[in-house]
Amino acid sequence: MNSSSPASKLYRGRFAPSPTGPLHFGSLVAAVGSYLQARSSNGEWLLRIEDLDPPREQKGAAEHIIKTLDSYGFEWDGAVSYQSQRHELYQNALEQLIDNGHCFSCRCSRKKIHQHTEELGLNPHIYPGICRDNAVTDLTTDAIRVKVLNQHIHFDDLLQREQRVGLVDEVGDFILKRADGLYAYQLAVTVDDAEQKISEVVRGIDLLSSTPHQYYLQELLSYPHPNYFHLPVVNNQQGEKLSKQTYAKAIEVDDASKNLVQALLFLGQAPEAALAGATVQEIWCWALENWRTGAIPPHSRTMIESANGQ
Ligand code: GLU
Repeated sequence: MNSSSPASKLYRGRFAPSPTGPLHFGSLVAAVGSYLQARSSNGEWLLRIEDLDPPREQKGAAEHIIKTLDSYGFEWDGAVSYQSQRHELYQNALEQLIDNGHCFSCRCSRKKIHQHTEELGLNPHIYPGICRDNAVTDLTTDAIRVKVLNQHIHFDDLLQREQRVGLVDEVGDFILKRADGLYAYQLAVTVDDAEQKISEVVRGIDLLSSTPHQYYLQELLSYPHPNYFHLPVVNNQQGEKLSKQTYAKAIEVDDASKNLVQALLFLGQAPEAALAGATVQEIWCWALENWRTGAIPPHSRTMIESANGQ
């Protein structure tokens, strides 16, 4: 598939945290990268809270994230958007996909999929097509999956370079709406990025493997493709991505200047020594003037490796 250019010339980026916990250093790096990329392009930067999955959310996390971003000097355009208030958009897109024959109802449990792939020696991460010939019958109790076509998704990531992914072998028919009624991340993020006219998606490399899903949905829904720019993520000493699951610490409001400098360092920006005692505003001024995407190392690593120039 070929990429088409974003619909509008205006650069518009976004930061889209899930409120599963407070902001940690790993999410700060993604926020800093997307913010500098947007502002250095004279573009807009939106803040979208991805509160799509209430059981995974932590009470008060969204407010905490917003407050922390504010105290770190981030300025977003317009009001903060919340996925929990955008269900109608996701439902409309889902109905369009169903009406165009791209979906099927699926009643497979995880266990059933696991047994089936194991018996047949198939990749356990790819849906093995058990329900593929089903029509969409019940929108309230069944999961809805999209059928992938036998083709490749091909795009140039601005940092990770050329990507080519086979939909059948590497993605498989994926879920758009879960049996518990929740919309899947892949559908919601695709709809939001298009509806909010995001021209460039800057986020962590852990989401690179989700991009073919989103790219494919953009094709099916006739949405333009944004550019993609996947940043390295920060690992802990065990080589795992900093996240709530790996018990990453929340970043403190009092450490804003120090953490911003560390984030710039992680992104290869070589902040001047004088920034050590600088205010948040002075750090942003320097960062905007000196933002160089060519200096960002593409690979994920720990903060210590990054400080040692690895
Ligand atoms: N909500 C996702 C997260 O916090 C990010 C989604 C995205 O940037 O596409 O990991």
